[in-house]
Amino acid sequence: MVLDVEKAARWIHRLNGKIQEQKQYLTDLDQAIGDGDHGINLARGFQEAANAISANSYQDLGALCKDVAMTLIGKVGGASGPLYGTAFMKLSMAWKGQKEIDREAMAKGFKDALEGLKMRGKAQPGDKTMIDVWEPAVAYMAGEGPLNGEELASVAKEKMEGTKELEAKKGRAAYLGKRSIGHIDPGAASSYLLFSTLAEVIGE
Ligand code: ADP
Ligand code: MG
Ligand code: MG
Repeated sequence: MVLDVEKAARWIHRLNGKIQEQKQYLTDLDQAIGDGDHGINLARGFQEAANAISANSYQDLGALCKDVAMTLIGKVGGASGPLYGTAFMKLSMAWKGQKEIDREAMAKGFKDALEGLKMRGKAQPGDKTMIDVWEPAVAYMAGEGPLNGEELASVAKEKMEGTKELEAKKGRAAYLGKRSIGHIDPGAASSYLLFSTLAEVIGE
C-alpha cells in the first residue's frame, strides 16, 4: 500500500496548508506573467476542499477525490480550477471503490489525470505550464525503479525551476511571448507543491 484514505486526506490538508503559506508567492509568480490571481484562486479552492473532506469520513479514495474535484471546479475560477478539478476527477474515477492502493494503481490514477489535463488544456511539455511538472512526475511514478518520495519531490522541483527558461505557449502567459522567459510558471509551482506533499505523505 502506498496511499489509503487516511493518507490521502493528510495529503489534501497538508497541501492546503502549504498553499495558504505560499499564497503570496504563487500570486507574485502570476503577477509577473499572468493576472496575479493564482495564489488567491488556489488558496480559496483548497481551503474549501479541505473543509469539504473534513466534514465527511471516507471509506473510498474515489469518493474523497471526487469531493475535492467538485469543490475545485465549483470554487476556483480561471484556468487552474477546471484543470486541477479534472485531475482530481480522473483520480476519483481510477480509484473508485478503493480504500487503499498500491504503487501501480497510484501511477495509473496519475497517468489518467495527466491525460485529462492534456485533453482539457491542449498543452504539451515545454509549453511552460503545470504539464512541465506533471509529465516527469508521473513518468517517475510509473517508472521501473523503486518509488522514493525524495526523488519524486526532486524531479518535480527541478522541472518546476526549469519552466523559468521556457517561453509560454499556453495560458495567459503566452500573450507575453518571449517576455514570459525568466519567470517560473505559477501552475508549475503549485504542481510542485502537490507532488512534494504527496511524496512526503507516501513516505510516512
Ligand atoms: P488564469 O490564468 O485563468 O488566471 P490561474 O492563474 O489560476 O488561471 O492559473 C494559471 C496556470 O494555469 C498557469 O501558470 C499554467 O500552469 C496553468 N495553465 C494555463 N493554461 C493551461 C493549459 N492550457 N494547459 C495546462 N496548464 C495551463
Ligand atoms: Mg492567473
Ligand atoms: Mg485569472
